Amino acid sequence: MCGIIGYVGKASAAPILIEGLRRLEYRGYDSSGIAILNGSNTIELRKRSGRLDNLKDLLLENPATGSCGISHTRWATHGEPSDENAHPHSDQSGRLAVVHNGVIENYKILKDRLTEEGHEFVSQTDSEVLAHLIGKCYDSSTVSDSKDRLVSAVREALPQVSGTYGIAVLHADIPEFLVGARLGSPLVLGLGRGENFLASDVGAIVTHTKDAVYLQDRDLVCLTPDDFNIEKIDGADSTYEVSTVDYTPEQAEKGEYPHFMLKEIFEQPTSIGNAFRGRLVDDQASAILGGLGLTPRELRDIDRIVLCGCGTASHAAMAGEYIIESLARIPTEVEIASEFRYRNPPLDKNTLVFVISQSGETIDTLAAMREGQRKGHRVLGIVNSVGSTIARESDGGSYLHSGPEIGVAATKSFTSQVTVLALLGLLLGRMKHLSVEYGQNVLKELRELPAKVEQVLLQSERIRQIAIKYNDVPAMLFLGRQFHYATALEGALKMKEISYIFASGHAAAELKHGIIALVSEEVPSVFIMPKDSVYEKNVSTLEEVKARKGPTIAITTEGNTELEELADEVIYIPPVMECLSPILAAIPLQLLSYHFSVERGCDVDKPRNLAKSVTVE
Ligand code: GLU
Repeated sequence: MCGIIGYVGKASAAPILIEGLRRLEYRGYDSSGIAILNGSNTIELRKRSGRLDNLKDLLLENPATGSCGISHTRWATHGEPSDENAHPHSDQSGRLAVVHNGVIENYKILKDRLTEEGHEFVSQTDSEVLAHLIGKCYDSSTVSDSKDRLVSAVREALPQVSGTYGIAVLHADIPEFLVGARLGSPLVLGLGRGENFLASDVGAIVTHTKDAVYLQDRDLVCLTPDDFNIEKIDGADSTYEVSTVDYTPEQAEKGEYPHFMLKEIFEQPTSIGNAFRGRLVDDQASAILGGLGLTPRELRDIDRIVLCGCGTASHAAMAGEYIIESLARIPTEVEIASEFRYRNPPLDKNTLVFVISQSGETIDTLAAMREGQRKGHRVLGIVNSVGSTIARESDGGSYLHSGPEIGVAATKSFTSQVTVLALLGLLLGRMKHLSVEYGQNVLKELRELPAKVEQVLLQSERIRQIAIKYNDVPAMLFLGRQFHYATALEGALKMKEISYIFASGHAAAELKHGIIALVSEEVPSVFIMPKDSVYEKNVSTLEEVKARKGPTIAITTEGNTELEELADEVIYIPPVMECLSPILAAIPLQLLSYHFSVERGCDVDKPRNLAKSVTVE
């Protein structure tokens, strides 16, 4: 959450920072701000609550010029979205500016102490404390070289804070110089020619450079236009490598689509294909996931799997649980990462833990991974962002290869996560009882998925009509059995997050255990009911809803026309193997929530209160 970009070079910083913030806005959009060091060694500070356009307007009225600056787009944790609470924050002298991503947990104690010493605070944020603390250390330092002085001030201040941070700091005394540091929040160094960048993610700098250093926790970096230096905050050496960013700036643009979410929904024939490409092994009727780094013997010894994630990733994990258990018969559990990290779950030596995160930065998932590793377990990652913290710190895993996902509501990452989990189920299944014939069938069905997804996408207009018809409903239910319990949860989450309709997903048979009290003429139920082994059961549940006058929207298999009579609306998906059906069935649900959101006039790509990549607890 929150986006940071810093620039030091020869060009005018403001347009570069604003363009970077535009690319980072999906990380938070409560406010934005910029601090630029001008030619007379003064910091030009501009900040505004609300969307980035407000800051752009302010800069038009009151431009900030200079070639060194830091900027921020905020997802508020402490203090409402307001101009005062917007970053960058200044120290007591007004000559130092800081942008911060994360949470300073002991900010209250530090703020009280600094207030007693005469510091005056203007915001309610935890972050402002960092500016005052670093400024105080700078002002009281005896180090004569001003660069060394700023570095030593950061080194002195950061050990006093507890919590998480990714920061960028500049000081009016020091032209062409930035300091960054991280603990728990992501920070990337971008290397240009005669210019260098600091950013929360490479998306912000990909138009300028493809050479990036993904900083590690407790790294401290100094940047000038022509040089950089990375050490640990405590002064110890740090190792780093320069990576090449693997995507093009165009991939992170909307192109012809009105919203990133729609673009990403329509990318799924490709992204699902990317998730299995090169991983299907025909002569073994199996899959290969080389990044797992496990020998066949080690794989054979696994007798339990734990899949850990948050939000959409936890729903993908749930679909994965059903798939792995059905294909490989290995007991599999889903753990919500934020629960797993604190509840001290028992793990035995043959348990394999996977953490699943699109961004690879989700803080609770990262903490769950570290908790598993602390206990001596091998923890593998299923991640989209190359070079992210989970990708780097996990003991192996699989990339999704989906390309950047910018829409705050996750779409293509869900279907790719389920695809990778299906590959895992196939791989493990083929090491046990699964026949060659069954394995070949899974491979065939996987290969057919992209074309089937194309077919589902053709129904976007039909789904839009449904959204128009029901767009003012107060609530919706999403119901599915077996593999579609997970799909129902994901469908409800999508609807809530971008259309603000209260929606809840349930295992369909649970309807009778309380949820049916919500059924009314105003509350539609969406049934995910392909023609599978539990289809007849779902028909009975649908009848129960109809009997109580609840409108029904059914997602079923092409050719199954009987639902035209039973349900109010029917959306078709092509026939597909039961265990892979969550991948197809998720797509009409994504389109449904998308069209509801548009019809209700919501901001599809930037839903209220949300941000992509949850890097605060
Ligand atoms: N805790 C800081 C604030 O509320 C930063 C939040 C963020 O990471 O966006 O301003």
